[in-house]
Amino acid sequence: MNDYHMHTALSDGEGDVDAFVARAAELGLAEIGISDHLVPRAYDEAGYGLPDQDVARYARDVRRAAGGASGVRVLVGVEIDYIPGTETEVEALLANELFDYVIGSVHFAGGFPFDMSSMRDDPRWNDVDDVYRVYWETVARAAAWGRFDVVGHLDLPKKYGHRPAVSMGAAEDAALAAIKTAGLAIELNTSGLRSAAREAYPGPPLLKRAAALAIPLTFGSDAHTPADVGRDFARAAALARAAGFTTTRRLSDGGDEALS
Ligand code: ZN
Ligand code: FE
Ligand code: FE
Repeated sequence: MNDYHMHTALSDGEGDVDAFVARAAELGLAEIGISDHLVPRAYDEAGYGLPDQDVARYARDVRRAAGGASGVRVLVGVEIDYIPGTETEVEALLANELFDYVIGSVHFAGGFPFDMSSMRDDPRWNDVDDVYRVYWETVARAAAWGRFDVVGHLDLPKKYGHRPAVSMGAAEDAALAAIKTAGLAIELNTSGLRSAAREAYPGPPLLKRAAALAIPLTFGSDAHTPADVGRDFARAAALARAAGFTTTRRLSDGGDEALS
């Protein structure tokens, strides 16, 4: 199995690239990708993105570490925040084609950084449905923009246990349709199992609809420490199978791997 979502000390994780690769080798993973955060400047007050958005240096550092004799194939990925209005800035950062793949993630719903721990009890949660509605609209826009390869952690607003009071089915379906049309993959992100939601992103019903649309799937631990690499992947495989997936997408060459 391959883990394409992890954050090292180059952004907001703990541990260097070598430590993540070593853990992947221990687990016998064939392929991983480092996916440190790249955040549009105006939105990185908390400083969790790559310092100075120095993507060339980041790609060089990861490639250097990837050249070792671990037996694990290491890709240079990145997780980019999709925030409407920042497209030109992100476009410029992607122009050098330094990355093997790009995860596009929505962590902001209309300017509300809803997944930051400091926002857990923010008054903007008084209208949970509105947070979700804006979230799904933003995911659809991110997909339609088309510069990403994988859409990160679908249904992230459940992270602290907030659930919509009304069905989000139509908004979710619109986002899935945009993902399908753009030919993007989604990920099954196991960090949700470690959150208050106690459920991977996306949850089973959404995962099932993605499988029905034959949207490609990757796995991501969203590890911020080497110990979490590949976390809960046996469970992820069971969830994916139960949803109707039979394969996952290998990002090095776009091939499909049987779900073991
Ligand atoms: Zn992070
Ligand atoms: Fe994320
Ligand atoms: Fe992440």
